[in-house]
Amino acid sequence: MSEPLLELRDVKAGYGPITALHGISLDVGEGEIVTMIGANGAGKSSTLRAISGILKPTAGKITFAGKPIGGHAANEIVRLGISHSPEGRQVFPRLTVRENLELGAYTRSDKAEIRDDLRTMHDMFPILEERGQQLAGTLSGGEQQMLALARALMSRPKLLLLDEPSLGLAPLIVQKIFAVIRELNSRGIAILLVEQNAKQALKLAQRGYVLESGQISFSGPASELLNDTRVQEAYLGA
Ligand code: ATP
Repeated sequence: MSEPLLELRDVKAGYGPITALHGISLDVGEGEIVTMIGANGAGKSSTLRAISGILKPTAGKITFAGKPIGGHAANEIVRLGISHSPEGRQVFPRLTVRENLELGAYTRSDKAEIRDDLRTMHDMFPILEERGQQLAGTLSGGEQQMLALARALMSRPKLLLLDEPSLGLAPLIVQKIFAVIRELNSRGIAILLVEQNAKQALKLAQRGYVLESGQISFSGPASELLNDTRVQEAYLGA
């Protein structure tokens, strides 16, 4: 891999007295899909939060497109090209679908291009156009996940951080979400994916990292992790 798009080196972070990340090092290359797998509480969401600026790292280095971003404000990081779709979807329930999408572009001022991107989102997720005036909180779980994804894309990211996009969704909707992730990637967007469905995530990704108690325990090409007996026993239900 040439110069990675995103690079974490020995990143530490936590919540008050709790240290959640004990020194995370990982890379995401241009146009790559990379997945992080691990048990509940291993630090997957915290890693994404540290990258997107929601959680301030206490040590280590985060570099994006050659620039240090560790400790930068979240809106600054969005502007640089990283978008975070958090766990639990977190759409704004009292705003309409359309307003949620427009908020995804809050760091941009290129009105004509924002309109073009809204069009693209509506083409990709026709239900979001159909339900444009509906309050986001009244959408179904799958629709809210699509809205969360589409909103994250409205900032035109180079890197998308996806936290459990299939959580709690019916199998057919899960397939749709995975197909969308594949399509976004084919358009050149790099993706760092956290997924409870480790098998599907490893089938989609090029590389994977296994997190245990705030540390990377091992990593490698996704195909190798899929065939690794430690991964199979701990995370793939083998
Ligand atoms: P899950 O798969 O359950 O979402 P995870 O791997 O994403 O887990 P994190 O949510 O990053 O794990 O949590 C890592 C550690 O940080 C856990 O011990 C968790 O209890 C703690 N933690 C996470 N969020 C907070 C918070 N807001 N305040 C205090 N501790 C937190």
